[in-house]
Amino acid sequence: MSEKMDIDSEVVEETRDKKRFEIKKWTAVAFWSWDIAVDNCAICRNHIMEPCIECQPNAMTETDNECVAAWGTCNHAFHLHCINKWIKTRDACPLDNQPWQLARCGR
Ligand SMILES: [Zn+2]
Ligand SMILES: [Zn+2]
Ligand SMILES: [Zn+2]
Repeated sequence: MSEKMDIDSEVVEETRDKKRFEIKKWTAVAFWSWDIAVDNCAICRNHIMEPCIECQPNAMTETDNECVAAWGTCNHAFHLHCINKWIKTRDACPLDNQPWQLARCGR
């Protein structure tokens, strides 16, 4: 009769490096506040300087279909793709219900 017992002690060492990354992530989230809410697209909730939720999966491969930000005369900013889709159903700013007028777009 023979019994085998293998104890894995290497797993404990691997978790050490992971903790450092978690702290970095947390400080980035803490930066976000309502004061800079205009920097997030209210339609898709992605950051305005990053591709919209539809372009995000293609962001690494496609370069011809640029996803730009669009500012309205009311000073609210959205992705051009997002607001273009929005005004097809409702021609008003999603945040303040004023008639949407494009002031400028780009980055
Ligand atoms: Zn968007
Ligand atoms: Zn887009
Ligand atoms: Zn607005």
